[in-house]
Amino acid sequence: MGIIETVERIREQSLENQKRQQPVKMTSYRCSKCRDTTWIIVDDKARRCQCYKIDKTKKLWEASGVSIEQQDKTFKSYIPYSYDTKRARECGIEYFRNYNERKNTRYNSIAFLGQVGSGKTHLSIALAVNFLNREIPVVYMPFRDTMMNIKMNILDHEYYQKSLEKYQKAEILLIDDLYKGKITASDLNIMFEIINYRYINQMPIIISSEKGIDDILKMDEAIGSRIYEMCKGMIVEIKGKENNYRIRGCRN
Ligand SMILES: [Zn+2]
Repeated sequence: MGIIETVERIREQSLENQKRQQPVKMTSYRCSKCRDTTWIIVDDKARRCQCYKIDKTKKLWEASGVSIEQQDKTFKSYIPYSYDTKRARECGIEYFRNYNERKNTRYNSIAFLGQVGSGKTHLSIALAVNFLNREIPVVYMPFRDTMMNIKMNILDHEYYQKSLEKYQKAEILLIDDLYKGKITASDLNIMFEIINYRYINQMPIIISSEKGIDDILKMDEAIGSRIYEMCKGMIVEIKGKENNYRIRGCRN
């Protein structure tokens, strides 16, 4: 039996079961596009439904210890402590709202930088939750853990390439706590491969880091200048607890 027939059969069966149990209610499916079969037919070909990709991405988040389903880090729950942190949140919301217009341009990324405890991770995760709810997959990359993991397996060429690709080819990549800890030459090599790929292919990144943009540029110019360009107009830098805060280019 061909895959299309199989998909059709699963769909019919699932519809039959629904009829038998209760009057058909579209809302009883988690995904009405594929009726929870994870398959859809496009141009006579069976394709994975977007919900399948999203579920897989959410499982990756869970594996990194962040639950998307029970997420309390939202834009609403972010409490700004100053006029300026209020603007940081507005920048995040603006980025989300204008994502479609921005995504295929050279300046399609956003960075939340600086001050410890100002909620940079909170705002980055709030963005990711919004995108995931809109079925746009955001891959989560906690910097230190990811680097350790990739470096541990650097001699396994196939694994190395596969791990890199996960971060290179993600529709949106969230790099959490960029440059946290002691940074080695091989960290920088790995980061360059990821950032450069995304830079060339104009693929968006969301970055959170305790480093400022000047530190990021100093750390490695090739990586830093690409990040700077990608995030142009959306570099949110928090300098201190009080009014020492600047946003470059985010008008609001
Ligand atoms: Zn679906």
